[in-house]
Amino acid sequence: MTEKHPFDDFGINLFSESVMKECLPHPIYTKWKTATRKEDALDRNTADAIAHAMKTWAMEKGCTHFTHWFQPLTGSTAEKHDSFIEPGDHNQPISRFSGKSLIKGEGDASSFPSGGLRATFEARGYTYWDCTSPAFIRDNVLCIPTIFVSYNGETLDKKAPLLKSAEAISKQATRIVNLFKDKDIKRVNAMVGLEQEYFLIDKQQYQKRMDLMHTGRTLFGSMPPKSMDIRGHYFGSIPERVQAFMSDVDKELWKLGIYAKTEHNEVAPCQFEIAPLFIDVNVAIDQNLIIMDVLKKQADRHGFACLLHEKPFQGVNGSGKHNNWSLVTDDGQNLLEPGDRPHENIRFLLFVCAIIEAVDTYPELLRMAASCYGNDYRLGADEAPPAVISICMGDELEIILEKLRKGEHELKNEVETQPYAIANLSYVPKDTSDRNRTSPFAFTGNKFEFRMVGSSRSASTTNIILNTIVADSLSRIADELQNYKYIDDIRKKSLTICRNILQKHHRILFSGDGYSEEWLKEADRRGLPNIAHYIDSIQALIDDKAIAMFERNKVYNELELQARVDILTEEYRKSVKAEVLTLLNISKKEILPALVKEIKFYSDAQNSLGIENAYYQRKIKHLLQLLHDFDEYYHELKEKMENREQHPENRAKAKYLDTVVLPAMDALRTVIDNIEESISREHYPFPTYDDMFMAM
Ligand code: ADP
Ligand code: MG
Repeated sequence: MTEKHPFDDFGINLFSESVMKECLPHPIYTKWKTATRKEDALDRNTADAIAHAMKTWAMEKGCTHFTHWFQPLTGSTAEKHDSFIEPGDHNQPISRFSGKSLIKGEGDASSFPSGGLRATFEARGYTYWDCTSPAFIRDNVLCIPTIFVSYNGETLDKKAPLLKSAEAISKQATRIVNLFKDKDIKRVNAMVGLEQEYFLIDKQQYQKRMDLMHTGRTLFGSMPPKSMDIRGHYFGSIPERVQAFMSDVDKELWKLGIYAKTEHNEVAPCQFEIAPLFIDVNVAIDQNLIIMDVLKKQADRHGFACLLHEKPFQGVNGSGKHNNWSLVTDDGQNLLEPGDRPHENIRFLLFVCAIIEAVDTYPELLRMAASCYGNDYRLGADEAPPAVISICMGDELEIILEKLRKGEHELKNEVETQPYAIANLSYVPKDTSDRNRTSPFAFTGNKFEFRMVGSSRSASTTNIILNTIVADSLSRIADELQNYKYIDDIRKKSLTICRNILQKHHRILFSGDGYSEEWLKEADRRGLPNIAHYIDSIQALIDDKAIAMFERNKVYNELELQARVDILTEEYRKSVKAEVLTLLNISKKEILPALVKEIKFYSDAQNSLGIENAYYQRKIKHLLQLLHDFDEYYHELKEKMENREQHPENRAKAKYLDTVVLPAMDALRTVIDNIEESISREHYPFPTYDDMFMAM
């Protein structure tokens, strides 16, 4: 018997394009293809034929159910399973899956957040098939990626606006490419590769930490300085247990047709990364959501807990999700690839400048989109990007852009013959791992890498914003260029447009050390926004400028934006509330008794000695002081938390939590961390950071 090749099962659980080609009648396949290009709508017969083929394929693989898999505004995924079973003749069950069931589903939307978009009397929401994302099988269920909209058509999910933003950028980028008359193209796809960081912790240890279980991060505990010194121990080769886990993750992902490619240890102890190959933005987001789920489930099977939180451990590197983004035409040209042909480089510079303009015009939106409450603990900390958005183009390109800004390249006819530096840009080095890792938004050879995104977030919002703001700039640029008829004029005008953009927006360019104090001061001088707290960034969505921009590009209307602000604010409040209540609970039920036990231990020891012992006395005094502080900060936090009810309004309450409750929670944490340091191992009821890291 020949041995099975590791990739033999690749894609067996994916209803991919090649499967469709194989099992659909050719005219049906062609009609589907046309629909994915948005050139025509799917008709009923085509949908019926696809549904039937999908069902047959899925049932052969053991599926009995299907689900419309969607991405509600909670940021995770949701599904409701229906079986294929239907009554046939003589009460014999038959299987059926109609085109209608494939295309549209109806569900009770009331259990998902809608931010007031769905009036209570109209609880219906509809799911519609996203025929550009392939269906897949998980746990014997056929999952059909769908969008989720309200009865009135407002989007209730993270996928519908993403598809709209992809349309917007495709339309505008296509206009520009075709103005250069290279070749007529029909589409430009935003392509995304997401690097996902995560922590693995031994499951038994995890289950002893209610804070990790309930909130995803440790609410107390710290790395003893000594452990930091021996950090080196933690890196190097991947532990065997983890290796076995990763291997199962890969196998499962490959079956789903996901090109899981890179796996390695990350900077922090027990921190790892997985990255699949880049793909069309909507599929990349689907895949990332699947990857997060597979990581969690496989971890559980291997006796681990997978932590996707941005900052599970204070003082230890946090986790991000690097969003690598580029624009690729339907004939395969990456518009962000500098090359050796001058006219292509003018187009390249035009796209780069459009991105510079977009990012500098809407930095608050990007900062908001990448974040969440948990990311507040990561931004600005060791290794992570600060909350200031800037773009790193790399030294070579920055010099060229600077010359362009100053007009030093003298346009004339040199564009064709001897353009200053843009004749050949193929020498611009691609990103290597030791290049600037401190920039939140870095050009890495032929793509931009946005590193601010939190590891637990759906990357959807980030890409919705990125696609839309860049589409908006491209649209303005295309409007300016379309008045020119001759290619030479278009090229010349393009360089002028670039120059104007650079003159206005060069403040966003920064290739130095983004983690340094000086940069923060410099960024302040340049007037770049530094929104330290996520909660303050949410409002950027309903800034007049932002509303107009989203409406212009048909991605969100004002109502939808307002709904998102409400939902994000509420989500923030819920996260903080869960943490505070968890910490208060653990404090009362476990930390206080542990401390009292420790005090009793020393006073018993002191009493049994019968004489005064200076060491015991000092120890008891110190523990009593901790008890006093603990009591004070515990009650302060409890009281402040209760007082939040004095602020009934959503945003005011969130602000109150941010400015009043969180500092109180921090103060209590500091005392608890001191208790952890002072208390004997026997009486401390939780695994410490060291315990958790060493258990791996
Ligand atoms: P690193 O950032 O660690 O150096 P890589 O450069 O290998 O890693 O790529 C990280 C991610 O970027 C991967 O998911 C990869 O597929 C993706 N990527 C590579 N090229 C592009 C591109 N042109 N557009 C979008 N993503 C890309
Ligand atoms: Mg990277």
